[in-house]
Amino acid sequence: MHKTNFLMRALYPQFVWRKPSDEKKIYLTFDDGPIPEITEFVLETLEKYQAKATFFCIGDNINKNPGIFRKVIGAGHSVGNHTFNHLRGWATDDVTYFENSVRCKTEVEKFGIETKLFRPPYGRIKRSQARSLLPNHEIIMWDVLSGDFSQNLSPETVLKKTIKHTEAGSIVLFHDSTKANKRMAYALPRFLEHFSSQEFQFSRL
Ligand SMILES: [Zn+2]
Repeated sequence: MHKTNFLMRALYPQFVWRKPSDEKKIYLTFDDGPIPEITEFVLETLEKYQAKATFFCIGDNINKNPGIFRKVIGAGHSVGNHTFNHLRGWATDDVTYFENSVRCKTEVEKFGIETKLFRPPYGRIKRSQARSLLPNHEIIMWDVLSGDFSQNLSPETVLKKTIKHTEAGSIVLFHDSTKANKRMAYALPRFLEHFSSQEFQFSRL
């Protein structure tokens, strides 16, 4: 489950799955925030390693936690659109999906910034929905899923598998969410330590 399979990548070549390059760079992404304490923990941990990352925020959480969102952008990280209500693309009609993503975009713009980055919640989006977003967005997927949201995985397994599948240019998915917190809080600092010691850099998208 940790490595995105090649079939998915072949089916959706217009989405961004990784950023191949010769440089030792890793692109960390955090979905579902901003959340008090949890997102702040991520920010403090990233700072220790001079790491930049990308936060795919739920519009409703930005609306509820504007101070935390301000900290994310203030620290120089990128932010992306993750819809306003974390909609499931395959179960949502196209108009509702598009409007909900615009609502998230509007929420971000209240802070005087714009983003073209979009990540579909659950990684599920209909082709028709993608078509309406693609002219103005980069749809960012991932090639490494940490699995931090999974109750069935131990924090140690999350760390081990995430390290194993990450390579130069990988886009790695963690969550700054209540559900993932136990596993993310264990794995993230150790992941950063591991790749920092191998002289990798952590960049935003
Ligand atoms: Zn999500």
